Amino acid sequence: MTINLPELPYARGALAPHISEETLNFHYGKHHKAYVDKTNAAIEGTKLEKAGLEDIIFESEGSNPGLFNNSAQVWNHTFYWNSISPNGGGRPKGELADLIEKNFGGYDRFAGEFADAAAGRFGSGWAWLAKSGDKLKIVTTSNAETPLTQDMTPLLTLDVWEHAYYLDYQNARNVYISTFLDHLVNWDFASENLAK
Ligand code: MN
Repeated sequence: MTINLPELPYARGALAPHISEETLNFHYGKHHKAYVDKTNAAIEGTKLEKAGLEDIIFESEGSNPGLFNNSAQVWNHTFYWNSISPNGGGRPKGELADLIEKNFGGYDRFAGEFADAAAGRFGSGWAWLAKSGDKLKIVTTSNAETPLTQDMTPLLTLDVWEHAYYLDYQNARNVYISTFLDHLVNWDFASENLAK
């Protein structure tokens, strides 16, 4: 099947002033779209032509880096758009709040560890909250790598490629990270993923 660029769950200007419409025009309209287009071009005429996105990611990992990088980036970006929200920020609730308390010693410690991990990811990549067995973990991945193929259940992610923040924050990745935690992170989405 053809891989589609999913609709954003909000208007392109809805994350402003934290993430501008201009960033969404490039990040979603050009970068994310290019990963979709390159994935479709790479599967055309191959045995993966009719495969779903997750099958393409698993099948290409380790054997076809070009296809893996583009298809995983399609998945990671769709997951990222859902990990942020115009009404985000605040604190996790319910079972997720309990697990964060148990695994990190409270929200503030979690937020500090997440910010350090996201800031410390050298170069391009992603910071994630993921479930591994019965534990929650903060992990970072490089380039297109994703916990999806690493025996973990991703709960939320932050894109720390420069293209995610450079128009709004230039080199101040740390401000982008704290803005994500304070104003954008979508805890309802993370709770939905925890329940899967
Ligand atoms: Mn990106």
